[in-house]
Amino acid sequence: MNVTQLVEMMKFVASEMVKSEPMLTKFDQAIGDGDHGIGMERGFVAVEELLASSPEYADVSEAFKAIGTTMMASMGGASGAIFGTLFRSGAKAIKGEKTLTTPVLLAFLDAGLEAIYKRGGANPGDKTMIDALVPAIESLRQTQPADFEQDLQNAADASYRGMLSTKDMIATTGKAKTLGERSLGHPDPGAMSMSLILKFMADHCN
Ligand code: ADP
Ligand code: MG
Ligand code: MG
Repeated sequence: MNVTQLVEMMKFVASEMVKSEPMLTKFDQAIGDGDHGIGMERGFVAVEELLASSPEYADVSEAFKAIGTTMMASMGGASGAIFGTLFRSGAKAIKGEKTLTTPVLLAFLDAGLEAIYKRGGANPGDKTMIDALVPAIESLRQTQPADFEQDLQNAADASYRGMLSTKDMIATTGKAKTLGERSLGHPDPGAMSMSLILKFMADHCN
């Protein structure tokens, strides 16, 4: 996938994420403070505006970096910092890459995850978006790169299963922490967003 195609894909992701606002709001109302949908909507409206201005990016890294900077500046909340960090730090690891391939996506998500660990201090099992990101990375790492679209679909499916697994986790970080066991049975809203971003990327390709 070249940079032009990547920008088209991210336009689709942004518009679908904006449409997901009511669902994300509902999930954050269940175990958080209810603002996750609005934050994501604000972030992806800003991304839509950015990409509608027909920016010229030299490579995949530049495009992801601009998206991350825009999200960080517009979203606010824990997830503004977390998802902004994912895109910005992920982009740093793939400087100069002209095409998005399976190994490039893996390097991007892996570096993003490392930065999220450093920035937020949460771990797998803490009921955060990390629990939807790690399975996607593992899926990409285990694949024998052949078909990027298929690898992306498999990563999105793994991420979705990771999101579902957060239902059985007790939140130990963020706003849901105070709920303790009452967070059981509800998926983490950030994990939902993470799995949706990958799903919409895959949907656009397939
Ligand atoms: P806030 O919690 O500030 O209201 P949001 O509601 O927008 O922010 O986002 C909450 C989501 O952010 C959570 O569902 C979780 O997935 C994610 N999150 C919060 N803290 C962390 C962290 N330290 N590491 C990774 N993800 C986190
Ligand atoms: Mg919230
Ligand atoms: Mg909040």
